[in-house]
Amino acid sequence: MKSINTFDIDGVITVGLYPGPNDVIITGRSFEEAPETYAMLHSKGINNPVYFNPLPFDKKTRKSSGEHKGMVIEMLIRAGTQVGIHFEDDEVQKEAIEAHLDHKFFGNNQVKVVHIVHDLTEKENVRHSMPPHFIGDIIPAGLPAVAIEKLTKNGTALQPGE
Ligand SMILES: [Mg+2]
Repeated sequence: MKSINTFDIDGVITVGLYPGPNDVIITGRSFEEAPETYAMLHSKGINNPVYFNPLPFDKKTRKSSGEHKGMVIEMLIRAGTQVGIHFEDDEVQKEAIEAHLDHKFFGNNQVKVVHIVHDLTEKENVRHSMPPHFIGDIIPAGLPAVAIEKLTKNGTALQPGE
């Protein structure tokens, strides 16, 4: 059976613990943060699949991010993937992941949540900016100058209607 590990981004990948070729990234970052997140990962040569938090940026919490990670791990296991370790730096999320997976029967699959402990990363919601050299890559051709200026200034994707 295919065996993989799963990786948090902020506080894990960002401090240098990188996924292997078949591993999966499960982040508390919102789907709204996908463009700048992919740009950052690709700049590090990381091209693994990413499961984003389905909640909007301003609605997510550390607990709900942990529940999201627990649900993705459950889904991977039910789909037949052996999950060995989830690497996580946030103790609140670690607890939520373990609470989600507790009392569920997964046969031989015993997921270990390994707590990466340091104080290098802010654990509350932080919006990340686009690495500057990537901004040009995601600007669609023909976008009005004012929209490009806005995109470049705040470093994030345009909101719907903008
Ligand atoms: Mg983290």
